[in-house]
Amino acid sequence: APTTQPVVVINAHDLPYLNSKLPVKKRVADLLARMTTAEKVGQMTQAERNALRSRTDIASYALGSLLSGGGSVPTPNTPAAWAAMIDNFQLNAQATRLQIPLIYGVDAVHGHNNVVGATILPHNIGIGATRDPDLARRTGEVTATEVRATGIPWDFSPCVCVVRDDRWGRAYEGYGEDPALVQSMATVITGMQGKADGSQLAQNTRVLATAKHFVGDGGTTYGSSTTGNYTIDQGITEVTRQQLETLHLAPFGTAVDLGVGTVMPSYSSVAIDGGAPVKMHGDGELINGVLKQRMGFDGFVISDWQAIDQLPGDYASDIRTSINAGLDMIMVPTNYQGFTQGLTDEIAAGRVPMARVDDAVRRILTEKFKLGLFEHPYADTTHLADIGSAAHRAVGREAAAKSQVLLKNDGNLLPLASTSKVYVAGSNANDLGNQMGGWSITWQGGSGPTTTGTTILDGIKQVVPTATFSAGASAPLEGHDVGVVVVGERPYAEGIGDVGNGHDLLLSDADKAAVDKVCGAMKCVVLIVSGRPQAIADQLGKMNAVVASWLPGTEGAGVADVLFGKRPFTGRLPVSWPRTEAQEPLNVGDASYDPQYPYGWGLTTQATARQKLTDARNTLLQKHDPYALAAAVAASVALQAKDWSGPQATTALAALTQSARYLERTKADAFTEGDAVVGAARWIAQNHIGQNVTEPASKLTSDAEHLLLTGQLSAAVSKLTAASRLSG
Ligand code: BGC
Repeated sequence: APTTQPVVVINAHDLPYLNSKLPVKKRVADLLARMTTAEKVGQMTQAERNALRSRTDIASYALGSLLSGGGSVPTPNTPAAWAAMIDNFQLNAQATRLQIPLIYGVDAVHGHNNVVGATILPHNIGIGATRDPDLARRTGEVTATEVRATGIPWDFSPCVCVVRDDRWGRAYEGYGEDPALVQSMATVITGMQGKADGSQLAQNTRVLATAKHFVGDGGTTYGSSTTGNYTIDQGITEVTRQQLETLHLAPFGTAVDLGVGTVMPSYSSVAIDGGAPVKMHGDGELINGVLKQRMGFDGFVISDWQAIDQLPGDYASDIRTSINAGLDMIMVPTNYQGFTQGLTDEIAAGRVPMARVDDAVRRILTEKFKLGLFEHPYADTTHLADIGSAAHRAVGREAAAKSQVLLKNDGNLLPLASTSKVYVAGSNANDLGNQMGGWSITWQGGSGPTTTGTTILDGIKQVVPTATFSAGASAPLEGHDVGVVVVGERPYAEGIGDVGNGHDLLLSDADKAAVDKVCGAMKCVVLIVSGRPQAIADQLGKMNAVVASWLPGTEGAGVADVLFGKRPFTGRLPVSWPRTEAQEPLNVGDASYDPQYPYGWGLTTQATARQKLTDARNTLLQKHDPYALAAAVAASVALQAKDWSGPQATTALAALTQSARYLERTKADAFTEGDAVVGAARWIAQNHIGQNVTEPASKLTSDAEHLLLTGQLSAAVSKLTAASRLSG
């Protein structure tokens, strides 16, 4: 309940819009008809809570919305304090004539990431690596439950950006470089909002989602020679119309289909077919024309932070241009006096039509009604205890484990035995803040134990309590079987990234030295904790195993789960992994594509491949189908090979080819088996045939890998067969 006073006068009793039994459309129409221009302007205004000169300004300016920018937190930063803070603001909104509740918004981009004690999930790039849409949906549920429990009904997430250049400092906010992958992860919206028609939004475990940043934020040109533009964040996306459609607009189409409630335009500009760049916040063709008209988006468009100020011309022109382009609410967020006055003047002068204003307000009110805010303006704290709960952390741990991508595993170093004598080093081994990245407790994030959770070292110690830890590898190295060196980036948000480390996608000197020391003294696995790939070509030869760990969040134990084989490695690269930064932008499908590891790469361990194949064989045996039985026999032959890196691999591969042929015939209902057998075939191909063989064989194998990943099974099988002949 709110803690500050004013006696709430019930100004608005018995009016039709307050009747929850009426359809939302009727309620909106009734309320809109009662509103003054000032009240409408207020609905379109979002202020930052710290910018309020006085709490009573909420009523004086009839503000429609407040936000907490990244790290704008109450003191103390506890879930209960958040709920009380927002209730108090809401109380001021209830002191207005029409008592329209505020809609409070926050950036909960990987869990309720501003709140100490909340479950902080892997950043989206790691979720993309999981290739698991159901998991993405469940991360949305965890986030929504924790956010709504603190009285916040609106989340500026997810970023459905398609990350085309890893030098972008927001690369980790995206799910990957392939629009289809991003589209498949948009299930997070369903997790947050429930059904696409918005009928579940009033539930106390749901929030309104925001698809951002519309459109092309991940495709800006860095150092373009044609425009002379050297900005990657908030820069210019130079594309053909076709590229705009297929690369960048497609995920927004999916988000709209899933009923996303709000869309946030990008700070960046788009230049189509060599034309002049247009700032997205003033781009009526794309916002009104494509998003609202063609895609049928019926939620509301919220600007980015002070973004309209970047439009050409004076502030009046910024307001006019953006609202007329289709923006419905402006994240002002500090000068709300200037904005409300400016918009009022533009309306009075007829430069912003009242019909446009009514449309914007109608959209905003519709979402407020759907969220049930008129019935329940205050926090429903039923789920406060779910914040950082064991059940939510279990989802975080699962996500962290599934996001791990095994890039290299020479000599089957992984999984590690729990009896190993482990030496742990590197700057990110025991740093909760670093493994959460940006947008964690503060906007930029920060190093150290800024909230509660397990570091990767904590997770390792849960398995091997005697593990030695020495970040700089200064402790004696002798007497250990295996080193785990956890390297990578320091936290950052927006801009170009880890500036302390130089904008170079390279490991720090300290991390490089730790790799040299540990990998020089024992077998080693290197974990790269970072928001994007790091160029490791110069040290790769020294590393026996390499894992892309991304930014796993508060549940470092999930990383240990895959290291010790408690869970299998199933993650696959959501972006291409370059050899050097100079290769950026680097994306699958490029004309001269020569990555260190291709898009979709991700090894599994021999043990996992065998387990998968055993499961597949058992399933196949249950089927009364001659092809299934043939495949089962083939799988059994493959399983008889004691070591798949030995000479029997060729026989095993032939057997698996057989299985793959069966699967080709039964594509429709054999997905699970297909996955398993193909996974096993990939393992053999990558770990045996791809290594220690002639160049042509290894080329054929990597070609086959691409074909397998893109579902071209029969072409892949013939490549693999050819490869096995060459290596035989
Ligand atoms: C970011 C948005 C974010 C907004 C509000 C901006 O700087 O670009 O993604 O939602 O701040 O915090």
